[in-house]
Amino acid sequence: CGIFGIVGHAEASNLTYLGLHALQHRGQESAGIVASDGLALRAHRQMGLVADIFDAPVLAGLPGQAAIGHVRYSTAGGSALKNAQPLFVQYAGGQCAIAHNGNLVNAAELKQQLEADGAIFQSDADTEVILHLLARSRQPTFEQKIVEALRKVTGAYSLLVLTEDKLVAVRDPHGIRPLVLGRMKEGAYVLASESTALDLIEAEIVRELEAGELLVIENGLMRTSKPFAEPPRQARCIFEHVYFARPDSTLFGSNVYEVRKELGRQLAKEQPAPDADLVIAVPDSGVPAAIGFAQASGIPYDVGLIRSHYVGRTFIEPQQSIRHFGVKLKLSAVRQVLKGKRVVVVDDSIVRGTTSRKIVKMIKAAGALEVHLRISSPPTKWPCYYGIDTPSRQELIAATHSLEEIATYVTADSLGYISQEGLGRAVGDPERGSFCTACFSGKYLVGEFGAERAEPSK
Ligand code: 5GP
Ligand code: SF4
Ligand code: MG
Repeated sequence: CGIFGIVGHAEASNLTYLGLHALQHRGQESAGIVASDGLALRAHRQMGLVADIFDAPVLAGLPGQAAIGHVRYSTAGGSALKNAQPLFVQYAGGQCAIAHNGNLVNAAELKQQLEADGAIFQSDADTEVILHLLARSRQPTFEQKIVEALRKVTGAYSLLVLTEDKLVAVRDPHGIRPLVLGRMKEGAYVLASESTALDLIEAEIVRELEAGELLVIENGLMRTSKPFAEPPRQARCIFEHVYFARPDSTLFGSNVYEVRKELGRQLAKEQPAPDADLVIAVPDSGVPAAIGFAQASGIPYDVGLIRSHYVGRTFIEPQQSIRHFGVKLKLSAVRQVLKGKRVVVVDDSIVRGTTSRKIVKMIKAAGALEVHLRISSPPTKWPCYYGIDTPSRQELIAATHSLEEIATYVTADSLGYISQEGLGRAVGDPERGSFCTACFSGKYLVGEFGAERAEPSK
């Protein structure tokens, strides 16, 4: 998911709308904005894309100097309007809206306890647990209520919480999901999942929130308590760099495009394909790594696959049936480029292998003599419980098949993945000491998952 917030600007909801556009790649199922005019909150949430949900009259109905927004793709709770965010409630302390990126790992447990205690939930979203905990807290101030609620939850959360008169921004103690603070010339504070949203509205990047930091903006002033919880160890999602974030964003201290190009260079060193005639990318996510591969190997880069810009990220659509159909809708091969060539094809990841298989077949049908598939992340062997929608372990092809078996399945002449060390080097942390790599390594730093443990239902 993607989150955006702004305080201290007369056009808060308009700017939130723009910010959400820049974050659309992080979720395409639903979007919403909640604005505050200082006295009351107003909300608009709908299924679909940002551009289709909001227009001038809708935004005019969201007046005020502060607003938060959300784009969603479901990792906890189904794809339905009741789960669209920001969630918005009225409780004893007033009105409150919350936008969440990430996934809580103990939400089901907490929900059970709360329901046993009489709570009535309106959504399936894990995020609603935080609202219930907040509303029940006996702490005197709003900030203390939030801190008390957050001490009970475990998992990934970058949060924006809006009340009538303040905006609170939080990153979980492990810093799993990103969140960046910016400032506009006029003085407004801005928060966003990725810096690309700040660039769009010409806000300056101030800094990324720290793991476990809680920041409050009220009456034009910002204060921070960092950390509100002591970080045991950082676990920044390395997959944000591999696939999820937009390449023009700077995230966890590095530019995503540069990291992806470096992944491609490392990949070329570790898994060369010396006899190939050209390097092509699986667009869009494979492009920077393919360019890096071409630069490091000296094999020319070319465009062998064309991506339709009228289809969203296929993976993000939650149903398998749509995903299958999606590949042909989304990609087509350029016969003139591929015919008679030995081709290196660079992609960011293989999840189920179904897409990759179709792509390789498409390239061969266009006349390629050989296809050497190179993947700019290590084999995806484990599901994510922290806000990326990977399927169960049984569906992950690398969890159940050897390298040779995967190559045979996708019909590639050769297959090579980058190593975990190579991935670490590309993000500037060879030991991967500040990153989560669980989907590649099985080392879950947050929650009780992993090889020797039973997997909870998602
Ligand atoms: P597959 O061959 O496993 O069916 O599909 C792999 C493709 O899915 C790659 O092109 C990759 O860019 C894309 N993809 C999209 N979203 C995700 C995601 O959330 N996780 C992973 N691992 N791959 C994704
Ligand atoms: Fe990111 Fe993978 Fe960790 Fe999930 S398991 S947070 S996708 S690195
Ligand atoms: Mg892709």
